[in-house]
Amino acid sequence: MIQVLDRGYVRLENKMGSDLTIVNSARVSYDKKSEELTEKDKGLIRFLIREGHTSPLRHAMMTFEIYAPLMVARQWWKYVVGSDHTMDSWNESSRRYLSEDEHFYIPGSHEWRGKPANSKQGSAGPVDTILGISLTDNLLRHIDSSMELYRMALEDGVAPEQARLFLPAYGMYVRWYWTASLQAVLHFLDQRLEHDAQKEIQLYAEAVEQYVTREFPEVYQAWRDQR
Ligand SMILES: Cc1cc2nc3c(=O)[nH]c(=O)nc-3n(C[C@H](O)[C@H](O)[C@H](O)COP(=O)(O)OP(=O)(O)OC[C@H]3O[C@@H](n4cnc5c(N)ncnc54)[C@H](O)[C@@H]3O)c2cc1C
Repeated sequence: MIQVLDRGYVRLENKMGSDLTIVNSARVSYDKKSEELTEKDKGLIRFLIREGHTSPLRHAMMTFEIYAPLMVARQWWKYVVGSDHTMDSWNESSRRYLSEDEHFYIPGSHEWRGKPANSKQGSAGPVDTILGISLTDNLLRHIDSSMELYRMALEDGVAPEQARLFLPAYGMYVRWYWTASLQAVLHFLDQRLEHDAQKEIQLYAEAVEQYVTREFPEVYQAWRDQR
């Protein structure tokens, strides 16, 4: 498990395939199979990626368990192609059933970023320390008062699926499983490791990248070299 932000993480739940799977799914065209990865196979991986022959990358899959603020989950959910939620298998904790304790992403006083000068999205460097302290303090108070209203609604017998309207949702942690082909995972990394992606999802992408590097070292190196 790789820790991300104050309470989040990425964990590789399952994977199917290896560098060799990519090689063999390409070599099947010639009725050939490698038992272990040779230098020639590594060359084939580079060739496939360089020439955009991506279908072999779709014979490998990864399933991650992710615990992240809802704002990150929402951005992640947009990766539709090659992700299993095209077949409705994005599984996420549900606050309709009060399935787990509420946790919220609370940036530390030194973690608040300013608005960028020349762009509508992204962020600039850290805000000054005094402002950072008061922002963290304000957020904590905001969460406390929201939680009080939420609990009051529950005590009054309101259905959990509606009482949750009182929760400050953007920063609330949710947990989900994401299953995707290696190609879809690489596409996610292409976009979300970039400097223009939101910092929080960049940190999650770095955790995913560590697993991809560990499980598919040759493919990932070839992919990176090609970027
Ligand atoms: C920095 C940044 C800012 C963003 N800001 C916003 C925003 O303000 N609002 C917003 O709604 N989204 C925003 N997004 C999300 C973005 O629009 C994409 O939905 C998201 O990045 C997923 O990428 P994708 O569409 O390539 O992925 P997928 O939908 O998984 O598609 C993967 C690839 O498949 C191909 N493909 C997909 N569908 C088709 C099709 N119908 N026909 C042919 N080829 C297809 C494309 O090559 C595509 O790149 C942002 C993304 C980033 C990285």
